Amino acid sequence: MRVHLKTDMDYQTRKIWDVIARIDGNEKDRWVVMGNHRDAWTFGAVDPNSGTTAMLEAARGFGELLKQGWKPRRSILLCSWDGEEYGLLGSTEWAEENAAELRNKAVAYLNVDVAVAGPHFGASSVPSLWKLLQAATRDIRDPKTGKTVFQQWQDRARELRPDPDLVEDAGDNNIQGTEARISALGSGSDYTPFLQHLGVPSLDMGFGGDYGVYHSAFDSFYWMSHFGDPEFVYHVTAAQLWGTIAMRLADAPSLPLNYSDYAAQVREFFNENIKVAKRRNLSGFDETAMTDAVDIFVKEAGRMEKSKEDALAELERVPAGANDRRTHAEARVRRLNDALMATERALTDSQGLRGRPWYKHQIYAPGFYTGYAALPLPDFRQALDDRNSANAKEGLERIIHALNRATDTLHQATD
Ligand SMILES: [Zn+2]
Repeated sequence: MRVHLKTDMDYQTRKIWDVIARIDGNEKDRWVVMGNHRDAWTFGAVDPNSGTTAMLEAARGFGELLKQGWKPRRSILLCSWDGEEYGLLGSTEWAEENAAELRNKAVAYLNVDVAVAGPHFGASSVPSLWKLLQAATRDIRDPKTGKTVFQQWQDRARELRPDPDLVEDAGDNNIQGTEARISALGSGSDYTPFLQHLGVPSLDMGFGGDYGVYHSAFDSFYWMSHFGDPEFVYHVTAAQLWGTIAMRLADAPSLPLNYSDYAAQVREFFNENIKVAKRRNLSGFDETAMTDAVDIFVKEAGRMEKSKEDALAELERVPAGANDRRTHAEARVRRLNDALMATERALTDSQGLRGRPWYKHQIYAPGFYTGYAALPLPDFRQALDDRNSANAKEGLERIIHALNRATDTLHQATD
C-alpha cells in the first residue's frame, strides 16, 4: 500500500510561560524544587494534567499547613513548566537562566509528569534518593488494596518477575534490597536540565497501567474517568507521595541523601559494563583505577552516614537556645548538608559528554541513540558499543575524576 501523507506544520514563534511559586523556608538559600509540565499534545488528562492535579493538591495541602503556622526549614518551589512537549523548553530555559542560583541552592528536583495512568507505582531516581522514596511509599496507603504503596509495588514486581532459573544473572545483582527496582533517569521529562545539566539530585515518579493513549487525542477526561482512575483515588495518592517527599526534604534537619546507595549503584553499572567489554574483547582502559575510585567513594559515603548520625545525636543532646554548643552542632549539620548537596554537583564537569557538552553529568544521561532510555556511565558505555577502546579509556577517566571529586566533597565535610 502506498500512502500519501500531507503534513501541515505551524512554525510560528509563540510565547510560552512557566509559573513558579515559592514557599520561603527558614533557610531561604536552600531549595526543594517540585516540577510538572502544563502543556499537552492534545487534551492531556494523563500527560501532564494528572501531575498538575497532584501539584495543585500538594500546594493546597502546603497552604493549609502554612495557615496552621508551619514554616519549612528549606524553601519549596512549585514549578509549572510550559513547552515540555516541544523539547523540555520551559524547564530548560528556566534551569539555564537560573543555573548559578540552582547550583548553589537546589537540594533536589522532584518531577511528576504522568502522575496517574493506572494503579501501578513506578519511579526513577538517582540512588541518593532511593531510601527517602521507599520510606515515603511505606507511609502512604495504596487506595485499591489497602496495603502500603511500598508493599503493593513490591508484590507486583514479584508477580511480574521472570522465573530466575530461566534468566541469566537474575536476582544476583539486585543491590537495592527490594524486588521492585527504581530505574535510572534517562530523558523525556523536565528533570533532564536539573540532573544532567546542573547535577541536582532528581527523581521522577507516577502510577502506570494499561495506558495506550499516550500523546493521542484519546488522552482525555473520558479516558481517565472511565479507565485510568475512575474514582480519582490514585490522583490523591500521587499528591500525598509527592508532598510527603518534598516536606521531608524541606524539613529534615539532616538532608536525606544517601551516597552509600549511589556508590553501590555505580559499582553495579561498572560491573555490567565490564561484562560487555569482555564479551567484545575490549581493553586498554584502567579497570583498577575505576575499582579503586568506587572503593573510596563507598568508604567516604559510609563515613558520611556515620557523621550524619553523630551530628544529629549531638543536635538532639544540646538544648535549643543560643549557646555555643548549639551553634556548633547546627554548624556541623549544615556543613554535612552542604556536602550532601554538592556531591551530586561534583559528578558533573564543565566539559560534558563527548559530542554533547550540554550534558554535564558523568554517571547519568540518555543514550546517544536511545531516546528516553538511560545509558548509565554514558561515555564509557557508548565507547564500548562503538568498539572504540581509546574513547572508552578517555570516557572512563572522566568518570573516575567525577567520582574522586564526589569522594573529596564528602571527605572534606566529615574531617
Ligand atoms: Zn508529559
